[in-house]
Amino acid sequence: MNGTQGLHPQTIAVVAGRPEQVPDAPMNTPLTLASTYVAGGDLEYGRYGNPTWQAFETALGALEGGHGLAYPSGLAAFGAVLELVRPDAIVVAPRHAYLGSLGRLVQEGTRHDLMTRLVDVADTEAVIAALDGADLALLESPTNPALEVADLPTLCAAARERGVLLVVDNTFATPVAQRPLGLGADLVLHSVTKFIAGHSDVVLGALVCADHGMWQRLEQRRRITGVIPGPMECWLALRGLRTLHLRVERATANATVLAPRLAVHPACRRVRYPGLPTDPGHARAAAMGSFGAVISVEFADAATADAFCTATRLWVTATSLGGVESMLERRRRWPGESPTIAEGLVRMAVGIEAVEDLWADLAAALDSL
Ligand code: PLP
Repeated sequence: MNGTQGLHPQTIAVVAGRPEQVPDAPMNTPLTLASTYVAGGDLEYGRYGNPTWQAFETALGALEGGHGLAYPSGLAAFGAVLELVRPDAIVVAPRHAYLGSLGRLVQEGTRHDLMTRLVDVADTEAVIAALDGADLALLESPTNPALEVADLPTLCAAARERGVLLVVDNTFATPVAQRPLGLGADLVLHSVTKFIAGHSDVVLGALVCADHGMWQRLEQRRRITGVIPGPMECWLALRGLRTLHLRVERATANATVLAPRLAVHPACRRVRYPGLPTDPGHARAAAMGSFGAVISVEFADAATADAFCTATRLWVTATSLGGVESMLERRRRWPGESPTIAEGLVRMAVGIEAVEDLWADLAAALDSL
């Protein structure tokens, strides 16, 4: 099936990027391992194209409502975005964005005079003020790891009015919850490594472009820079994408049960989860239609947070999210994490296990503190 127009996202995730349905065709796009192709066709060489990349890009593009392009990591995809603007561009970015993206902006500032304006993405007026005269805006919503929620419809319109190139990092929300291109963003960025691949076995990134001309520019640039994805990674990510909705819905349902229980436990000083009715991002997340599967909990200090992470058995201390497995970590253990993130903040990436098993493990760890 080629056309996906009019289908629900759950169906698109299943049917997009499949081989043509002719007798004896494989149901799934096979993994193509090729450095070169017989001359005379569209592909020619392994750095220019690969059928397995294309299948993944088609499916992700259809889900986000644009044109997909895969990169070897989420950070490589962000690097490709930075190449779209001048080396001394003015970039608006969330103060609590993924630390790797912020680190890259700092590096570009040192090497090329790029200037970054850090904003609280939840403060719509402050973001709009920062957009004036800017070349590029990176928005994350919810942010990693503070879970602040932006008013995306308003900010997409404001960026468009001012001619600011807008890229939305949709890693946390996923297209299950929000489709920024439909709101007017120019580009969507994914750390495919997380929810889309979904099984903690792939590092991969992607951009999805609203405009085909921009897709062509980026695709040409990818050929030249050689920043290309691996076919195996695309194959695994496409396999993961088929079950994206099931996984995200289940993990979100688990998070929705766990967050209120954490919020009333005396060991937890503060819980950020957009699904909590008291959370500052609740109304915006509710309008979006999904609360996500990441919870951030603040403990009294770093030592208490570390003790909590060590005390869990089922929840694994690890630095990723979006896998089927529940994981947690104290974010400030990374020197690059923003100093405005509390030392005792633990980011909890909720998986798809039975929720009462997850809670029993958390409750025992909390009670041991
Ligand atoms: N964006 C967000 C929100 C992330 O959390 C991450 C990684 O944690 C990235 C981008 C970078 O992605 P990758 O690790 O695939 O390079």
